[in-house]
Amino acid sequence: MAKDVVSKLKEEALALLNKGEQIAAIFNRVSNGLFMYKHKPADKFKIAYACKECGNTEFFESDLAVPYTVNCRKCNHLVFKQEKAPSPRGRKKAVK
Ligand SMILES: [Zn+2]
Repeated sequence: MAKDVVSKLKEEALALLNKGEQIAAIFNRVSNGLFMYKHKPADKFKIAYACKECGNTEFFESDLAVPYTVNCRKCNHLVFKQEKAPSPRGRKKAVK
């Protein structure tokens, strides 16, 4: 039986790690139906997801901008959203 794209991509990343490769970024959200990583910092992200809304599964590569978000390409459901980094304490008010 064919493996789903999400598990397959996870195995691909784990195989690189097992070979001692450095991985620039990795997001393991398999329980939410998403796995993505990029090998080298200049690489595009390899993204695999299974949408819980419409059941669409997809694999694609993309340049993501921070904060990373991935929407289902079929129904536009938000599949992944990177947690915001904690904001530094106190915001400077604009001085006029
Ligand atoms: Zn969807």
